Amino acid sequence: MSMGRSRWGAMKNRATSTRESVNLEPRAAYVHLPFCKRRCLYCDFPVVATGSRLNSPEIQDSMKAYVDTVIQEIKASTPLTDQPLQTVFFGGGTPSLIPPKQLDQIISALDKRFGIAAGAEISMEADPGTFDAERLREYMDLGLSRFSIGVQAFQEELLEVCGRSHSLYDVYKALEAVHAAAPPSWSLDLISGLPHLTEDTWHQSLSCALDAEPPHISVYDLQVEDKTPFAKKYTIDVKPLPSSEDGAEMYKAASSVLRSAGYEHYEVSNYARPGHRCKHNEVYWRGDEPYYAFGLGAASYLQSRRFSRPRQMVAYRKWVSQFASSGAGFPGSAADDQGKEDEMLDIVMMRLRTADGLDLRQFGEQFGSGAVRAVNKALEPHEEAALVVRSSEEGKEGKEGKGEGIGAREVVRLADPDGFLVSNDIISDVFAALMPDDGKQQARANLM
Ligand code: SF4
Repeated sequence: MSMGRSRWGAMKNRATSTRESVNLEPRAAYVHLPFCKRRCLYCDFPVVATGSRLNSPEIQDSMKAYVDTVIQEIKASTPLTDQPLQTVFFGGGTPSLIPPKQLDQIISALDKRFGIAAGAEISMEADPGTFDAERLREYMDLGLSRFSIGVQAFQEELLEVCGRSHSLYDVYKALEAVHAAAPPSWSLDLISGLPHLTEDTWHQSLSCALDAEPPHISVYDLQVEDKTPFAKKYTIDVKPLPSSEDGAEMYKAASSVLRSAGYEHYEVSNYARPGHRCKHNEVYWRGDEPYYAFGLGAASYLQSRRFSRPRQMVAYRKWVSQFASSGAGFPGSAADDQGKEDEMLDIVMMRLRTADGLDLRQFGEQFGSGAVRAVNKALEPHEEAALVVRSSEEGKEGKEGKGEGIGAREVVRLADPDGFLVSNDIISDVFAALMPDDGKQQARANLM
């Protein structure tokens, strides 16, 4: 059954009336630390490349100035709850280039402004070649409990092709340092789909990753972003990039090898040993939970408002200065308000990418039974193709029930690995069913 606009209006009103069922209090904060030794050839993140001048007074001064600006932004922000932060994530860039003393200043500012809960997960991305065990211990003394190590590949030639600043030697030194420092949790991050990657070298990378015994592994598929050197040099699906078929085989191999080794495949690109899921990323993946963000290009989601800060340093500094003097307390304008429909699509997109899946009862309470019917209709062919699994509260799997937001808990999730592998296609079908007026093309555009 298709849904006309008038039906949407009714759905929106009903959804608003159950809004209190959603956690609206931000308990997570992201801080962007943009300095990198050099820009990798596939990277389109907001980054400041230091080159060989990393230890020069001017680069050290610019790091200090940046940290001061981030602290100014934190101080100008209003806490939206009296509950302390449960997670903090330092992403980049290469946050491990920031000296512990400066990181301490940021953590202190966050703690003073928002409070940081005892036992909070405080994560940091750290790249090989930028830290040793002593440096990690210094970070841990500040409360850091989780490091995400950007290994990316276990082949010297692939690291070079990517323009990474680290070598294979740096990778092994970094892994040695992590084991010596023994943080409560850490992740080893790999990239699949790199140029010249073959199924053999991919299996070798997975095996080397397992040898390092990380509690968490991320496997991100290479995205060839516009305006990067990779976009000029490579064409998707054309050698030396792996073909779609080879890429699919590599994805399945990762899922099979890592799950056999005891990792839970808890999100399309992420695997964890029990108790080692990344709690901060899980906030994003629930799709409707608010979070603070600070720093160059960082995106926050507060009071149903998504806001991305400027990606250029001069513009970011200017923005912080205006934000601080405005007294607004949290960023963005009414134009950044996330409509109910956008929120619904975010929830579908994020939750269907996780092993926890989409709880249709809760979804129905938020967006109405018409939305649940649309989701069910879109998923039906994928269930028949065994790409989607449905489970009831009683734990039975199958097609019976198809709850419409009423009664027993009913969760739909993508099958691992075949459903995860085509998650974009399945999710865009659900988008098209939820937003029939916008059509499939728009749904796909939103998804990408
Ligand atoms: S280390 Fe990460 S953030 Fe820095 S340039 Fe490379 S990919 Fe981009």
